[in-house]
Amino acid sequence: MAEKAKILCSACLLGVKCRYDGQGKPNEKVLGLAKKEILIPVCPEQLGGLPIPRVPSEATGSGQAVLEGKAKVITKQGSDVTDSFIRGAEEVLKLARLLGAKKAILKQRSPSCGSGQIYDGTFSKTVTKGDGVTAALLKQNGIEVVSEEEL
Ligand code: SF4
Repeated sequence: MAEKAKILCSACLLGVKCRYDGQGKPNEKVLGLAKKEILIPVCPEQLGGLPIPRVPSEATGSGQAVLEGKAKVITKQGSDVTDSFIRGAEEVLKLARLLGAKKAILKQRSPSCGSGQIYDGTFSKTVTKGDGVTAALLKQNGIEVVSEEEL
């Protein structure tokens, strides 16, 4: 029998309380998939060394721009957490490679996990086009990223 593919998944979508506000964001479709597929929960912000709860952050540009050093990730209180976001993204990529995961289901609009949509860095709930830092790094490395909204 063929081995099941491994799929990375934003841990908060499985109900893990790893979000900035100390809560999870369980998603029915993702919870349903967890019964059929091999989902590997990851929280890049946690893997980057940030605490739970934490001050929310937004990027001043796309995840791609953050990875190229052209944009930063800043907390609502003005601290620069770019290094933690990049570290978390690299840890997720490391796990993807180690486990042979070719796909990831990531939480839409997060500054780490957003895929195609992120907040614009003004903390005004304004959405703009772009990927979060982890989503961008995974895509750059040939890993398919979909949001929970595309399931
Ligand atoms: S970094 Fe990703 S997995 Fe972690 S809480 Fe934010 S959206 Fe969820």
